[in-house]
Amino acid sequence: MNRLLRTLLVFLLPALCAPAQAEDSIAIRDRRELALERGTARPSHHLSLVLAYFEGGWTPEVIRSALRKSARLLEQCGVAITKAELVLLAAPARFHDFHTPDSRELASALPLGKPTIYFVADTRQQPAFDAEAIGRGNSGTRPELKDTVWVVRGARDLDIVLAHELAHVLMDSGEHSVEPGNLMREDTAPQNNYLSGTQCARLRDTATANGLLQPVR
Ligand SMILES: [Zn+2]
Repeated sequence: MNRLLRTLLVFLLPALCAPAQAEDSIAIRDRRELALERGTARPSHHLSLVLAYFEGGWTPEVIRSALRKSARLLEQCGVAITKAELVLLAAPARFHDFHTPDSRELASALPLGKPTIYFVADTRQQPAFDAEAIGRGNSGTRPELKDTVWVVRGARDLDIVLAHELAHVLMDSGEHSVEPGNLMREDTAPQNNYLSGTQCARLRDTATANGLLQPVR
């Protein structure tokens, strides 16, 4: 290829690709703060969350109702959710499921704080989980997904699931507990809602070191 042609192609190709990019665009349609009641206990740490969902998917009511209950579960560690930003996204259908390559592209296009919980339609991952948490330890090959949680529609015991996955992110650990009633049991269920003192200490220390929790001064 001669040099002039190559130079022309370098400049023209992005312009030729532009209409395809516009069709594939990812946009924030709305951002607002969710009002959450404060618990009665004085917290030792504050948590700010971002909750992202898609037009035509999850509803704010379902998200809010589950998050209120999850907040009560995190209170046992002295953690209070003091800010929860609800972000409505518009994006092509391929981004509505959890699927590592598409979800990496989605997350990297969005200027959102962390941790972010993405409320998605489904998962195209194998094995297929109702919810996945990506901390520091399991984001090496997919850094855009660091400190995020992905929850599919229809996940059972959503309040437990959200608290469980958030705990994975905050502790930066994929470990599960075999202790009866523990929130970190592999099987999420309404009665599995307890975190031990050791788990809470690890959660607070790791998340504070990673900038995901702010100690109350
Ligand atoms: Zn788990």
